[in-house]
Amino acid sequence: MTQELPVERIMNTGLLTCAPETPLCEAAARMAERRFSAMLVVRAGQPVGIWTEHDSLFVDFAHPEQVERPIEAVMSHPVVTIHRSTPVGEAALRFSTGQRRHLLVVDDDGGPLGLLSQTDMALNQGLEPYLRLREVGGAMRKRPLLLSGELSLGEAAQRMRRSGCDAAVVTCRDGELGILTERDLVRFVARHPGATAAGELASRPLLTVGVDEALIHARDLLIDRRVRHLGVLDGAGEVVGLLGFQELLAGAEHLYLEDLREALEQRDQALAQSRRNLQLAERVIDSSLEGIIITDARTRIEFVNPAFTHLTGYSLEEATGRTPAMLSSGRHGPDFYQRMWQALQEHGYWRGEVWNRRKNGQLYLELLTITAIRDDQGEISNYAALFSDITNIRENEEQVRRLAYYDPLTRMPNRRLLEDRLELAIRHARRHRQRLAVIFLDLDHFKQVNDALGHAVGDELLLKVSQRLRGQLREDDTLARQGGDEFIVLLNEVEEVEEVTRVARRLVESVSSPFEIGGQVFRVGCSLGISLYPDDGDRVETLVRQADSAMYRAKQEGRNTYRLFRAEMHREDRGRLELETALRNTAETGEGLGVHYQPLIDRDSGEVQGAEALLRWHHPTLGHVSPGDFIPLAERSGLILPLGERLMHLVAAQLRDWLAAGLAPPRVAVNLSARQFWQSDLVAQMRGLYATYALPPGQLGVELTESILLDKQQEAIHTLTGLRELGCRIAIDDFGTGYSSLSYLQELPVTTLKIDRSFIQKLGESRGSSAIVAAVTGLAKELGLRVVAEGVETEAQLQALSRYHVNLIQGYLTGRPVEATTFAERYLLRAGTSS
Ligand code: C2E
Ligand code: CA
Ligand code: CA
Repeated sequence: MTQELPVERIMNTGLLTCAPETPLCEAAARMAERRFSAMLVVRAGQPVGIWTEHDSLFVDFAHPEQVERPIEAVMSHPVVTIHRSTPVGEAALRFSTGQRRHLLVVDDDGGPLGLLSQTDMALNQGLEPYLRLREVGGAMRKRPLLLSGELSLGEAAQRMRRSGCDAAVVTCRDGELGILTERDLVRFVARHPGATAAGELASRPLLTVGVDEALIHARDLLIDRRVRHLGVLDGAGEVVGLLGFQELLAGAEHLYLEDLREALEQRDQALAQSRRNLQLAERVIDSSLEGIIITDARTRIEFVNPAFTHLTGYSLEEATGRTPAMLSSGRHGPDFYQRMWQALQEHGYWRGEVWNRRKNGQLYLELLTITAIRDDQGEISNYAALFSDITNIRENEEQVRRLAYYDPLTRMPNRRLLEDRLELAIRHARRHRQRLAVIFLDLDHFKQVNDALGHAVGDELLLKVSQRLRGQLREDDTLARQGGDEFIVLLNEVEEVEEVTRVARRLVESVSSPFEIGGQVFRVGCSLGISLYPDDGDRVETLVRQADSAMYRAKQEGRNTYRLFRAEMHREDRGRLELETALRNTAETGEGLGVHYQPLIDRDSGEVQGAEALLRWHHPTLGHVSPGDFIPLAERSGLILPLGERLMHLVAAQLRDWLAAGLAPPRVAVNLSARQFWQSDLVAQMRGLYATYALPPGQLGVELTESILLDKQQEAIHTLTGLRELGCRIAIDDFGTGYSSLSYLQELPVTTLKIDRSFIQKLGESRGSSAIVAAVTGLAKELGLRVVAEGVETEAQLQALSRYHVNLIQGYLTGRPVEATTFAERYLLRAGTSS
């Protein structure tokens, strides 16, 4: 059984009341002003009569003074009342049978509570489905009352009264249509301006609706435009009816009653539902695990739920009237709260994490959401705060963090954490000017163990290895598993490299003793690489990478050992320093220095046409050092100058000796490096040599590389000219390896081109080499330069050269560089005995 909705739920509670002696015009004025359709006449709190818009039709408009009469003279009475609990369906029946348009809703004592009108019923929600389905035409019952605008109001009212219409369409003088309603008459009564024609009072224009439009559209128009009648137009645009709330409802007749009942039931259910929702909301609030605080606009607490009490320790009584600042932990500064309030004012919402304090003083972290609640005027009336204690969640996050930063198998830090720590350690070490070490450790033969004994054993092994390693480290050293069988150790506050190597040895030893897993006994080893901050780098990646590469060397060089990244460098540095010191001594004393001579043979005649002096260095402990090693070092350190000078004296002295011995030495060339060539007194030195050793002009020549001459051509020309004046031959050495710019050769007073060994060796193999040799020799011929082919080792090379303009051959084929005595024995003839 459906419980029926009582009328009090849909009645209009705004009641206009007046005393019985109130003049009608005054009552009408109030009704017109407030747009009320009825005035209840009350005496001593009891309704004695009612005057409605409809009653305005009965006013004698011919005698306007009548409107001054007291309302009790014209009101209807008795008032038809209906009890507040009367079901709506029953009220609807009374409307349709009693020709009444208003029913007064009263309480048990007959006291007026409100008016129930048909309009109220029509305005009630829940009718939409019905109104949506029906068309305007279907609700029209009769032709509209059409009145001429020239009719007097009295006549118009009479016609309306007689035809039972609450409104009439008025044809005004200009042909426009207007509408005259009971409400217009009430307005007239209020102002009682005297004799008036209907056309003057009518409202224009007449609002209309199409006959085939949906009733819902008509209803919305009525409500929106605040009118109670619409003209109904047919297809031809003729007014065929007037539609008011009455028609809206009456058209439905009993169907309407059914619909209405159903609609009201629905509304009833909705109300019950929302009441249930409210209860539900209350229950939710009560049983919520989240703390809830409701404050007023000035943030004074009005309500807190049990969870609040549970979380904070404060009861509802303790909290009420105070502000949430009672929970403040003092952990957030004023600007924190300022930002919160700003967000609340601007967006009506704030969410964030707040440290608060419980009644017992304990700190907790809450996730807090505050919403500003606004009233109908848009002013903030309340704040609702919802919070949960996330201190535990944080602890869980800590666990998650553990997973992210720790290796699940060994529970050691993973690479990420290591990198974090290394980053910090580097910063710390920089500040305190300390060293730190990164050790990269890789197990030897782990893969074999894993493959042969299975992953479970492999995992077990890794675990045991990590424990052994850990056992060798200080507490604040970090042991991290990099992944697979790789570990990284971070040693802080290292003073001596020996500390690190000691640890490294201990680590190697700890891993090398046998493991026993699942009854199996086996051995693995490990290889370690060490990098140091700041020696090897000052960045995380660099240090790890270099430790890694040092580890690789350890693997290559025998495994189960460690290597320092720097060691090689150190050794190199140390070696270089050692070499340089030795070379310096040699440069000073000349001890161990020697010269080898290599003959340059004329290709056609086979005669020795020249020789190249090549520096040789033999050190008592380092042994024989190749010029390829010590010449670059001598050039970098500046030692090339004293060394070069020594060489030139040795050569000049040798030449003098040979000459003195009656031998006929060929022209000998010495190599000049850039530094030597650009000495300001080079020509003077050379001149000095010639003088000191009484050398015939041209006996001593020079070899220069292209690059020396390219830079400062004008100055080069100056020096070269000076040398030429001494008769020196000037050879361009290693031709083809540098810029190979031929154009400058024309400008420079050079005499010889030495084609670099690399071209000679590739002759016949590569087209490019042949082309260069062809071009160079061709050009040299043009320029009248002698051409030397360097590094000729084979007959084939010699043969290949036959096609080109080459004058001299220098190479192992025709003669290696040899000591002076050997050179003399092999190549020198007594002066005058040569052919
Ligand atoms: P370079 O001036 O090109 O000297 C020729 C180099 O080629 C010499 O090497 C010589 O032994 C080598 N050589 C000669 N024939 C052949 C051959 O058929 N096959 C091969 N593979 N090599 C051949 P060395 O004596 O080791 O000298 C190397 C470089 O050191 C010289 O190259 C030169 O640039 C520099 N050097 C040597 N002595 C001096 C010097 O007193 N002063 C300066 N500044 N540099 C010198
Ligand atoms: Ca040379
Ligand atoms: Ca050369």
